[in-house]
Amino acid sequence: MAVGQRNAGVLTDLAELLDELRDNSGTVRTVKNYIAGEWVDSTGSEKIDVINPATGRVIAQTPLGTPLDVDRAVESAKKAFKTWRDTPVIDRVQVLFRLKMLLEENLDNMARLCTLENGKTLAESKGDMRRGIQMVETACGMPTLLMGKFLEEIASGIDCQAVRQPMGVFAAITPFNFPPMVPMWFWPFAIASGNTFVLKPSERVPLTQIEFFKLAEKAGLPKGILNMVHGGKETVESICAHPDIEGVSFVGSTPVAKLVYEKATATGKRAQALGGAKNFMIALPDASMDLTVKTIVESCTGCAGQRCLAGSVVVGVGDETYERLTKEIVAFSKNVVVGDGLDSKSQVGPVISEMARERIKDLIQSAVDEGATLLLDGRETEHREGYFLNPTVISGVTPDMRIAKEEVFGPVICLAKVDSLEEAITWLNSSEYANTASLFTSSGAAARQFSYDASPGMLGVNIGVPAPMAFFSFGGAKNSFFGDIKAHGEASADFYTDTKVTVARWFKESSIWGS
Ligand code: NAD
Repeated sequence: MAVGQRNAGVLTDLAELLDELRDNSGTVRTVKNYIAGEWVDSTGSEKIDVINPATGRVIAQTPLGTPLDVDRAVESAKKAFKTWRDTPVIDRVQVLFRLKMLLEENLDNMARLCTLENGKTLAESKGDMRRGIQMVETACGMPTLLMGKFLEEIASGIDCQAVRQPMGVFAAITPFNFPPMVPMWFWPFAIASGNTFVLKPSERVPLTQIEFFKLAEKAGLPKGILNMVHGGKETVESICAHPDIEGVSFVGSTPVAKLVYEKATATGKRAQALGGAKNFMIALPDASMDLTVKTIVESCTGCAGQRCLAGSVVVGVGDETYERLTKEIVAFSKNVVVGDGLDSKSQVGPVISEMARERIKDLIQSAVDEGATLLLDGRETEHREGYFLNPTVISGVTPDMRIAKEEVFGPVICLAKVDSLEEAITWLNSSEYANTASLFTSSGAAARQFSYDASPGMLGVNIGVPAPMAFFSFGGAKNSFFGDIKAHGEASADFYTDTKVTVARWFKESSIWGS
């Protein structure tokens, strides 16, 4: 049976799924597009491999679709919008309530699938799934978020109402690093609002989202409301240019985020594009050191450093704090267990590809060449296959170095020293990115100054990965975010609806019928 055609639609057994990914001769299968409720072949002839980063083995293939695939998906979504917009909101969210229950039942196996295609540890994949489910739970509350406004008697006998209306077809283009969660930042909110949807998941990790779509179908989502197209650059460009798409969400690297934002808005679309990051973590002398060290190492190395909220530059304020941090971070990092994410002993899995590993190694070397000190070199590991890197710790990092400016997206901790909180904030505010930053302190006054002055859109105080939960909105600033309306939470009611105002005069009966 081909991928995407399992009758039950539920992932009950990982072995069964892996079997499905191969045909009788053992050849890996190619994933299908989901259009108008059917799993169909892509019209593209080129494919790229989906690789288990822990083994380097190919587990499936993703077709690189053509503009025709996008046309078909949009046509299906456009047709479905006619009836979906007329479906009462309370009925729309019933599908999401049922989806939530199905996701809970399938969480463990879907998490294993996520580990298989992305490499992160099983515990991290379960966390990723949990965050995805929380998006569904929050989208179940859309009736409250969609409420409009009404004011009577704005002039004599005249009332005014503002209602939020769904707009039509929306699309999202998503990255490799959170296969369950990131697509869920968008589609549950879009469809609960009465829109229809086209998702283009990362070509490197298409498998977990396919399971979400199957469960949405099982939960009773009518055909055509959710559609999936696979592909790369050409597919993304067709989405940005398509005249029948109302809005586009993008999550990925900054150059592509900027491009998508420019292309989508050039054709009059609503757009939000979340880009890369360079996240600073500042430790003050009054920080609780044990907790700070553990939190910092977990932030920088968790998910193999492939989180847009991962710590990257760790700034110690004052000589004593810097020296203690350096010593303890090296000691803690040495003990991090790196291995296959399916092994319960592993704390950190591999990075996504050989190309990513080479890029990270090159950045580490650049720091050495520019005068930093390599205290822990994670470039060589005992793993013979897969794309593993051990934690790397570099000290003496200064603002002019490449490694202090570019996104690393790997398990690398850069240590730097400054003399004051002001100096640390000035440095982080000079970065082209502004996704997140964290402060470690026991001073409320310092925490307040940090929250007030630091430019990133998401901040942490004694927190290493300050990810806003589903009911808050998510997004950074500067080159980490292009657009006006952020992702999920309350902001999704703004992104996925247009406001229509009606001013109405109803004459008093007496004036029509006489007294
Ligand atoms: P990526 O930019 O390579 O790919 C993201 C998406 O864009 C994919 O679906 C891909 O098919 C498409 N794409 C890639 N190149 C393209 C091109 N030239 N033209 C059009 N489309 C293209 O990103 P990635 O490697 O999958 O993900 C990692 C990046 O995502 C990191 O920079 C990370 O910081 C960022 N990210 C940001 C956030 C956030 O909230 N700001 C969240 C997660 C990931």
